[in-house]
Amino acid sequence: MEVKPVKGTHDIIGNDIILYQRIEDALAKIAHTYGYLEFRTPIIEHTELFARSVGDSSDIVRKEMYTFLDKGNRSLTLRPEVTASIIRTIVNNKLYSSQDFPIKASYLGPTFRYERPQAGRYRQFSQFGVEAVGLDSHLIDVEVIALGYNALKNLNFKDITLKINTLGDDASRNQYREALRGYFAGHIHEMCIDCQERLNSNPLRILDCKVEEDRKIIKNAPRIQDFLSEQSKERFSKTINLLDSLNIKFDLDETLVRGLDYYSEVVFEYHYIAPDGKTIGALGAGGHYSHLVEELGGPNLAGVGLSFGVERLAQVVASENLLFDAFPFLAFYIMPIGEVNIEKVYELNEKIHRLGYPSEMAYESKALKALFKKAEKRSALFAILIGEEELEKEMLTIKNLRTKEQTSVALADFDSVANQMVEEELIELNEER
Ligand code: AMP
Repeated sequence: MEVKPVKGTHDIIGNDIILYQRIEDALAKIAHTYGYLEFRTPIIEHTELFARSVGDSSDIVRKEMYTFLDKGNRSLTLRPEVTASIIRTIVNNKLYSSQDFPIKASYLGPTFRYERPQAGRYRQFSQFGVEAVGLDSHLIDVEVIALGYNALKNLNFKDITLKINTLGDDASRNQYREALRGYFAGHIHEMCIDCQERLNSNPLRILDCKVEEDRKIIKNAPRIQDFLSEQSKERFSKTINLLDSLNIKFDLDETLVRGLDYYSEVVFEYHYIAPDGKTIGALGAGGHYSHLVEELGGPNLAGVGLSFGVERLAQVVASENLLFDAFPFLAFYIMPIGEVNIEKVYELNEKIHRLGYPSEMAYESKALKALFKKAEKRSALFAILIGEEELEKEMLTIKNLRTKEQTSVALADFDSVANQMVEEELIELNEER
């Protein structure tokens, strides 16, 4: 009997891998640009890690974790996010002991949430993210926001909506929480079950409810702005002023609260709305956290982080055709013609590999028509035709498979002309698509 993949999981194969690799390369590069070094932590962690960080009252911990007992009767969980693991590593390895702050980490890898699968929502998905720990300043908050914004720019996203809000410091949030509890208590019997549950455990989360009827009640709820301490107000205004001077556009969204308990002060989300008005939810999100390091056994250090969902990025990059080189093209398809010495053709193919160009050869000479079909199937940009005459004269006949133009290039000049040919052709192809 055929075995299917687990619900909410998916295989990424063939052409799609090129797209994912291209996106992951761009993300790794932006992390490096800002001085964040990659951390690789295990996918399984003690369940307690997430209960203590993401929060007992969060949807993730309450109903979305893949938790199991191992053979030693330990409660383990497939990580539903990576921030907690990064902080655990920082604490376990006492990376703070040199006092060289901020500690900057990036990560990329699978995460697991038992959610209802739908477009852009899976049970196994991949997150890329960064964390900056140990510097409590709007400067580092803005750096992380800018890093995410520029990551999307590097992936050629044009219209990005950056939503931003402040949850204030502990005192602001405590007061606000009580005000919300008071307000919603008067309406809670008209609201959804989730909101009813959240009233006691975490009334801030009610602001996040998507139920149409509830939204009307939420609209008139008290606003965080009226409960912010002077310090939080000042910090937030410095944050948005700095974003302004960096020319990073944002929308203030007072209902943005995020689904994880550890956030305080600034929180943000990146959204993409397609030309037809459709959206697949946040591409990425993050915020500042004040107590997470301490909560996980470390010193009192603040941090800020963000994470992107790689599948969501890939979905938009593919549907909007944002990366013109994210398809599995061959630069050259090499065609042996007639009674040519196939070993010599093979040597040439190897030489092209060593120069770093994606190329393949036909391992035997065939009718030209069949060879051109194969080249097309492999999305080759150029065909290199090699017969005895070409070998003898050390010349290559290179045919552009789009324009059908044919040029003769001396083998000795191949490397210097090939780079430009391939690059120009990719740009042309992109403009044509
Ligand atoms: P969060 O950790 O909930 O802030 O999520 C960070 C990012 O991960 C989101 O902005 C999404 O892009 C992505 N993400 C979260 N949940 C899922 C999911 N179930 N499937 C795919 N991507 C997700």
